[in-house]
Amino acid sequence: MTSYFEENWQKGTKILVILAHPDDPEFFMGGTIARWVEKGYIVQYCLLTKGEKGINPGFPEGEALAALRVEEQKAAAAVLGVHSVQFLDFVDGYLEVGLDKRLAVTRVIRNVKPNVVVSCDPQSYYIADTYLNHPDHRTAGQIVVDSVYPAAINNAFFPELLEEGLPAVEISELWLSLTPTPNVTLDVDAFWEQRLKALLEHKSQIVDPERFLTRMQASKAHMIGQDGRYYEFFRRIRFH
Ligand SMILES: [Zn+2]
Repeated sequence: MTSYFEENWQKGTKILVILAHPDDPEFFMGGTIARWVEKGYIVQYCLLTKGEKGINPGFPEGEALAALRVEEQKAAAAVLGVHSVQFLDFVDGYLEVGLDKRLAVTRVIRNVKPNVVVSCDPQSYYIADTYLNHPDHRTAGQIVVDSVYPAAINNAFFPELLEEGLPAVEISELWLSLTPTPNVTLDVDAFWEQRLKALLEHKSQIVDPERFLTRMQASKAHMIGQDGRYYEFFRRIRFH
């Protein structure tokens, strides 16, 4: 594990974050996204669902909740300085690995032409001792991994994309959050408050902001390193 990792990418490096639900980027890696924006990198989001199963008392359900969560996600992304947010609108909670999903994600990757793709580790069935990972998170990670290699970089995959003017692209790195085997530790202590501010935009999921902040403060004790700083962890794969 590398402490005090520095990306040293060129300014303007394009980073595409692909995850299952609205609020996943901020929960999994909000500090990292804020750090990347501050370093002059261009961060874009693609969410595979609109999160319509994230029901809570006092908030709408179904399509109205999906519409609300789209707006909440855009507001949270704006707090972090994210360049753009798009949604593929697959059914929340029932995400499955399939060629239709791989095609859709490959299309997004070839369209955005990112230097770095970011998702979450499909091998994470549980996180620490207290959480089972949501199946959509694992599935989203699997779809992204399978799209990055080989579909996005090989014109023999999904020839219809060539007809759409979307030839194969080059990707430099893949980063996976929620990983049992991190090889990168990013110091994002400076962005803790900004991450909280972004998370609070997900009002339909936070429900009670005061309780949420109390819970986050308590959980921070488990997230910080021995030096008292807040880090986020990734599995980083570099392609040559
Ligand atoms: Zn989620």
